[in-house]
Formats: sequence, C-alpha cells, structure tokens
Amino acid sequence: MTSIKKLQISSLKKQELIDITNQLKHIVKEESIKQGFLLVYNPHTTAAITINEGADPDVKKDILNTLLALVPNKGSYLHAEGNSDAHIKSSILGSSEMVIIEDNELILGTWQHVFFFEGDGPRNRTIYVKIIKEL
Ligand code: ZN
Repeated sequence: MTSIKKLQISSLKKQELIDITNQLKHIVKEESIKQGFLLVYNPHTTAAITINEGADPDVKKDILNTLLALVPNKGSYLHAEGNSDAHIKSSILGSSEMVIIEDNELILGTWQHVFFFEGDGPRNRTIYVKIIKEL
C-alpha cells in the first residue's frame, strides 16, 4: 500500500473535461509499481472521473455537448443551489475509475485517457489518487 496522493485541478469553464492522464502516469512512475491498481477518486458532488478517447478532441466536445443536451444547465430542478445539472452529470459519469498497473505503466487502451469532469466550474478542485500494490 502507498500513501494517498492529492491532485489539484483548476477548471476554467462551467463544464469541462480535463485530461489528467499524464499526472497519473507520473505518479505511477514515481512510485515504481511493478503490479497493482491505481484508483482515482473525485470527492466532489458536481464533478466526476471518466475514461474515454483522448486522441480526437472532438470526442470530448461531443461528450460535453451531449451531456448538456441530456441535462440542460437550467431546468425545473428543485435544488436551491442552482447546480442540479452538475449533480446529475456527476452521477451519470461516476466518482472514480480504477486502472491496472503493469511494469510501471498504466494499462490503458490506445485511445484511452483519464479525464476529470468539471460540472460546476470554474473552481479549484482536489482529487485523490491511491495506488494499491500487488505483493
Ligand atoms: Zn448543489
């Protein structure tokens, strides 16, 4: 087991997908993990973690546009804070992802990247990374 790491993320828009793959790869290299798992966990109720294509930036735009079409920013929501759309998008995408580590590398598909989803930015966020070492 290794200690928990914090990643600081600053979003610039109301809704945004931020690629955090390189930061995660850096953590894995630093820890020198032969085999294990990396858990990336978002503790915020209006943000999320998701894995998807990182090669074509249009995929990111399509995901954000579709989330916006499915869950409009303003609607007949009850929550008085005015950010229900972000809470719903957070639940759709989920709070965490777990990735296999093999020989100090994250096992991701050719096009896969790990993204932090901001649903109610701009804000400064802290997310957690935990590495579980296989003995
Ligand atoms: Zn709220």
